[in-house]
Amino acid sequence: MAAEVFYDDDADLSIISQRKVAILGYGSQGHAHALSLRDSGVDVRIGLKESSKSRSKAEEEGLAVGTPAEVAAWADVIMVLVPDTVQADVYKTDIEPNLKQGDAIMFGHGFNIRYDLIQPPAGVDVAMVAPKGPGHVVRRQFNEGKGVPCLIAVEQDATGGAQALALSYAKAIGGTRAGVLTTTFTEETETDLFGEQVVLCGGVTELMRAGFDTLVEAGYQPEAAYFEVLHELKLIVDMVNEGGLSNMWYSVSDTAEYGGVTRGPRIITDETRAEMRRVLGEIQDGSFAKEWVAESKSYEQFNKLREDQKAHPIEKIGAKLRDMMPWVKRKITETA
Ligand code: NAD
Ligand code: MG
Ligand code: MG
Ligand code: MG
Ligand code: MG
Ligand code: MG
Repeated sequence: MAAEVFYDDDADLSIISQRKVAILGYGSQGHAHALSLRDSGVDVRIGLKESSKSRSKAEEEGLAVGTPAEVAAWADVIMVLVPDTVQADVYKTDIEPNLKQGDAIMFGHGFNIRYDLIQPPAGVDVAMVAPKGPGHVVRRQFNEGKGVPCLIAVEQDATGGAQALALSYAKAIGGTRAGVLTTTFTEETETDLFGEQVVLCGGVTELMRAGFDTLVEAGYQPEAAYFEVLHELKLIVDMVNEGGLSNMWYSVSDTAEYGGVTRGPRIITDETRAEMRRVLGEIQDGSFAKEWVAESKSYEQFNKLREDQKAHPIEKIGAKLRDMMPWVKRKITETA
């Protein structure tokens, strides 16, 4: 069954415009949602701790900033865009005491609801607007008159208007320009975690690192290896994004296509697919969530892994080569 897709004409901007919207957090997603909501005529305030480095950034944009508790008390729609691992604490101390009957609490990712780390009371709408792209792209596309596709979901429809509210919010950040699909908190959370772990972030980086290591160990120049396994990936992905896998196969040489279709399945083997199912199992049974929530208390193991990633030779040679190609650089501004 094909999913129903909503566009601009299916969403009513006046619904979100009549509400008071608190955005908690002003990081990757928070700044994008807040600025685009504001530009769409919505009354927004930002919730950040007194000590937060993000405060001055929001204030420079002319946005009203208060503590998370202050803006949660003011608002009747609360969008939770602080990191997933701190949401449960922020909910307990700042949000829950300030929830009134008929309010809406919204999320950009379903993690805390899916794994029962947050349990909102009856009487409030619980919904999700999850853009399928990084916050900085969400904002850039909005400014360019485009949009990033969004998923919306309703976990609890206390008012009967939760879906229309989520759709209206998605319109205000540009989502309905690209298309909005409905999902559930469970489907969004599990597919999002799977995608970033197995393909988008974990799988692709490991594939690039392994390809680079193989060439360098065989005696090829690291510069040549970098161009072949990392730099060119963007060009390939752009073709796939624009016209699908067939579009890419059409555009590359027959040599590349024959080599790819015969060798690719030798890299992603039955064993790899079995491991993908095991990773999915850890997402579905909650063991990944449990591991990550525990790790997030210290970041001890995680910081070591981050250092390993930064220390890999592909990063050193990449920094040097990108310095020689300043036009490829587009740095994401740190907002946390
Ligand atoms: P982020 O790390 O970029 O920003 C978090 C913000 O929260 C910062 O402004 C930080 O100062 C603030 N913050 C941290 N702790 C806080 C606290 N205790 N109280 C108040 N504010 C606090 O986060 P993000 O990547 O934008 O993620 C936010 C949500 O959006 C998450 O649920 C995430 O899964 C979801 N999401 C993110 C992306 C993305 O592009 N990064 C994409 C889709 C969904
Ligand atoms: Mg990050
Ligand atoms: Mg995702
Ligand atoms: Mg994610
Ligand atoms: Mg080539
Ligand atoms: Mg071809």
